[in-house]
Amino acid sequence: MGLVVQKYGGSSVADAAGIKRVAARIAETRRAGHDVVVVVSAMGDTTDELLDLAEQVSPLPPARELDMLLTSGERISMALLAMATANLGIQARSFTGSQAGVITDSAHGRARIIDVTPGRIRDALDAGDVAVVAGFQGVSTETKDITTLGRGGSDTTAVALAAALGADVCEIYTDVDGVFTADPRIVPSARRLETVTYEEMLELAASGAKVLVLRCVEYARRYGVRVHVRSSFTPRPGTLVAGSMEDLPVEHAIITGVAHDRSEAKITVVGVPDKPGTAAELFEHVAAAGINIDMIVQNVSAAATGLTDVSFTLPKADGQAAMAALSQVQPSVGFGSLRFDDQIGKLSLIGAGMRSNPGVSARFFKALADSGINIDMISTSEIRISVVTRDADLDDAVRAVHTAFGLDATADEGQATVYAGTGR
Ligand code: ASP
Ligand code: MG
Repeated sequence: MGLVVQKYGGSSVADAAGIKRVAARIAETRRAGHDVVVVVSAMGDTTDELLDLAEQVSPLPPARELDMLLTSGERISMALLAMATANLGIQARSFTGSQAGVITDSAHGRARIIDVTPGRIRDALDAGDVAVVAGFQGVSTETKDITTLGRGGSDTTAVALAAALGADVCEIYTDVDGVFTADPRIVPSARRLETVTYEEMLELAASGAKVLVLRCVEYARRYGVRVHVRSSFTPRPGTLVAGSMEDLPVEHAIITGVAHDRSEAKITVVGVPDKPGTAAELFEHVAAAGINIDMIVQNVSAAATGLTDVSFTLPKADGQAAMAALSQVQPSVGFGSLRFDDQIGKLSLIGAGMRSNPGVSARFFKALADSGINIDMISTSEIRISVVTRDADLDDAVRAVHTAFGLDATADEGQATVYAGTGR
């Protein structure tokens, strides 16, 4: 018996039947004697539908109003889930993020949790009730306005509540059986990982693996919250995210998995004068536009011209703003031209064992070469190698690398199942 935080994603509560299925799971956990706090996302693709709707009434909706609109999605599911749970004879009370004490800064659309004061949740638990909390939202103490935590933010709500309440575990229920060696939507032979360390999960999430949102993993690591990722559609065991790679046994697998990301674009600044200060000037302007960049590559300059090319990747959505910011400094930096490419994909290989095993990069590049896939950019960290390829080659690249590192499941182990969700 203990305190369990359970988070259910949108695909798990996509319709009335889903909500009833989840309620049965909650009731079962409560009947087993646990205190239960549930965090729920908006039903199915509700958040996307609300965004579409906002766009129809205004090309640039005020951020405050957009957050007010988007948080309504989670309010629908929390109330329905509390009703369905009560209908099974288990008392349940729903709470908005604000009522649950999720305090954030005032950055609408990407607010950070700065404190959690779950007094009302404690009261509900003390009374023997299940607390159902709307994910992805909080309230700014500064402005008193309702905020959202960024897409996929319900994961972060769940981990933050688990940390504040000192929960024994934070269960994240989704539409696959756990964290896999690759996205099962692309690699059906992907294997479920039994455990994964915080560091590896951070790299996977930062490299595009959608199973957990990056901030939730950062939060879990900081507060040592054990995160258990599982499917709400089956009783299968799932994946435990916990522990540090420093404590891994030496015989731990070299490679944990392959992640891919289609959300980035590439900008190339052509003909940059190769002298001190130019890179600083270029990237200062991009940073001033509030844009986060990812990989950067600078070529050797041609001896004849003293000019070089600088390429970098960034979120596709920030592409236009970055191009505009760079155009402004073209006269002062004196570069030739700008090129924008949004047909790229990023592939990353992650594994704590990479640190002490030579030859991983060579094998990685060989696998891509054997499949005729051209590498556009390369970057590495201690436990990750990433490459940029053509978007059209990305799926093949993921499968080739997955096979080259022996990650494919055997026929006996069977194929990974995707139970629901549009992957939207
Ligand atoms: N409903 C929000 C979204 O779709 C939050 C979440 O699902 O975690 O991004
Ligand atoms: Mg969602």
